[in-house]
Order: sequence, then C-alpha cells, then structure tokens
Amino acid sequence: MLKPSILDYTQRELQDLFKPAFRAKQIYNWIYQQHAESFEAMENIPKKLRSELAQNYTLSPLEIVQEQKSSDGSIKYLFRLGDGHTVESVLLKMKEAEYDEKGTLIHHAKYTICVSSQVGCKVGCAFCLTAKGGFIRNLSAGEIVGQVLEIKKRNNIASNRRVNIVYMGMGEPLDNLDNLAKAIRIFSDENGLSISPKRQTVSTSGISSKIKKLGEMDLGVQLAISLHAVDDELRQRLIPMNKAYNIASIIEAVKAFPVNTRKRVMFEYLVIKDVNDDVKSAKKLIKLLEGIKSKVNLIYFNPYPGTPFQRPEPERVRAFQEYLLERGVLCTIRESKGIDISAACGQLREQEL
Ligand code: SAH
Ligand code: SF4
Repeated sequence: MLKPSILDYTQRELQDLFKPAFRAKQIYNWIYQQHAESFEAMENIPKKLRSELAQNYTLSPLEIVQEQKSSDGSIKYLFRLGDGHTVESVLLKMKEAEYDEKGTLIHHAKYTICVSSQVGCKVGCAFCLTAKGGFIRNLSAGEIVGQVLEIKKRNNIASNRRVNIVYMGMGEPLDNLDNLAKAIRIFSDENGLSISPKRQTVSTSGISSKIKKLGEMDLGVQLAISLHAVDDELRQRLIPMNKAYNIASIIEAVKAFPVNTRKRVMFEYLVIKDVNDDVKSAKKLIKLLEGIKSKVNLIYFNPYPGTPFQRPEPERVRAFQEYLLERGVLCTIRESKGIDISAACGQLREQEL
C-alpha cells in the first residue's frame, strides 16, 4: 500500500488530525514556504510527531524524472507518480512589464505553470495527442499541487514568489472536479503557496453540467473554454463529447458562471487549416459570444506524426483575429511555446520510462 501524501490535505484537515491546531500551520509553512526536504527537517515540530509523520505520509507523491528545456526558455517536466504512471507539466516564463512605485517601467519574469489533472483523458478530442493514450486515472489533489511545488523547488523560485497556474496539461480538469477543487483550495492557502484563485485558470473542453457545478462552488477561479468550433456538427467531429454537451449548453453555463468583475472568460479557439479558419466562422463566433465578457485566444494547431490536421497559414489566423478585433471582440493569438520539445498545447502525453 502506498502511503498517503501530506500534500493531499488542506490546512483545515491537518488541524483535525494533529493537535494543537497550530501544528497544521507549522507543517504548511515547512512544506510550502521553507521548501523542507524531509519531515525530520521540521525543527519546531516535536520529534515524536515528526517521526509519526514520516512513518505515515510521504512528503511528495511524485518526482521529476526528466527535464527538457526549450529554446524559448520554457521547461517541460516528466513526473513519475507513486504507482509508476507519468504526467507532464510545463514551466513557462514570460516577461511582464510593470511600473514600480516611482513610476519606472520594469520588466520581470512572470512564471506560469501548466499542470496536468489526469493521467490521460476520457474526452478523446480528434486533434489532441493526450487523447491517444486513452484514460488511466485521475490525479489526487496532492499530485496536482506537487507538480507546482516540485517545479518551484527545482528552479529556485522563491517561496513567496507567486506563480500563475493553468490547468491545461494532460486531462480534463472538470472530469476530476473534487480533486481539482481541493487543489485550488490548497494552492490558495495563505500559509501555503498563496496562489489566489484569480491566478488559476481552469480550461475545459466544455462539460456544461460541471461548469455549472464549478460556478456554484464560487471558488473565484478563471474559466477558459476550449470552443474550437462554432457549429455543433463540426464540434462533434472534433470533440465527441459535444453530442452530450452542445454549444448552446456551454454558452448557457458560461453565462451563469461568476466572473471577477475585472476578468473575462477566455474562449480558446484551436485554428486548424481548412477546417475552422474561415471568416464565416469568425462571424458566427461573434454572435455566440454576444452578452459575455469574453476574450478569444487563437491557438495554432500543433501537428504531430499521424494527425490528419494541419497548421493554419499565419495570414488566415491574423485575418480571423482582425475580423474579431474590428468588431470589438478582444482577441489574442497564443504564442506556441515549447514546440521544439513537444511541450506546446495538446502535445503532452504519458511516457515510457
Ligand atoms: N482538457 C482541457 C485542458 C487541457 S488541453 C481542455 O481541453 O481544455 C489544453 C488546450 O490545448 C486545449 O484548449 C486544447 O484544445 C488544446 N490542444 C489540444 N491539442 C492541441 C494541438 N494539437 N495543438 C494545439 N492545441 C491543442
Ligand atoms: Fe482531453 Fe483536453 Fe486533450 Fe480534449 S483537448 S482530449 S479534453 S486533454
């Protein structure tokens, strides 16, 4: 039997397990702020409790077994889980421009970590490499949290340095809603990693009923919808689940989703050559998004061996973007990071060790 990981527990749960209650705060501090490497190193915790912890829990449920650096600075990590399965995560470094208190423009690195939520995925999108391996299992909350903690440690990212999280790695996060919600809470604990839900973006292929549930939980996370097509017939071919959850049901769920007043729901649109890159689709997209505070993110399809789909022409993507911008719809084109190391969107998968 594998030991449970201490990363699976919210501070609240630890308070119930270990008395007095402030022990939970101390344990959180050691793990997430001091980056402790063992329970033994947790000096202000009584020796007896330290050995009890070491006997019953693991400090980390996963370990980095491979690391690949892209020429653009992003780094892909392969993690091995306790049962031998593997998942991938990506650290993205972007430059962020900000004004300091004197009004001087400064640039600093903004870190975003793209995490996996499942080993494999059930949804089976026609364009996605993750889907090819089928579904193996859900990740626990601790296995989701551990990806971020290990990547911060490995890169010496100061513990008080906040990072952004995007649930855009392997898996469909809303198909693992309980563990996802728990991970969101553990991440945002102020005695822990202190990553506010506003800095966490859940990307979903559109399980409408679960979007509603996530909204009702009112966690304060950002929402990204992988829309990719504007009519049901095409969307069904790309994302088989669209049969059960069609575009109208997704739009309805998004309209009911609580959004921070300064934020927008992101609609991801994977642009595939000669499939959905026409201006007619852009026109339909505007109609669909009417009444939603949205932002469209165009993603170039990233090809891989064996796929029937092709990368679109840059002119077509720009024309699509311009059509939206000219009509007042915010739209960006996502830079594909990490293509050279297969770390870009939809290129993550389980690997043989
Ligand atoms: N399952 C979730 C989150 C993980 S996928 C979802 O589908 O939203 C993250 C993003 O990568 C999604 O928008 C997905 O559609 C996109 N993606 C999948 N395959 C891709 C590919 N080959 N090229 C570019 N983006 C891809
Ligand atoms: Fe799953 Fe997302 Fe890939 Fe679709 S795109 S198969 S939902 S990981």
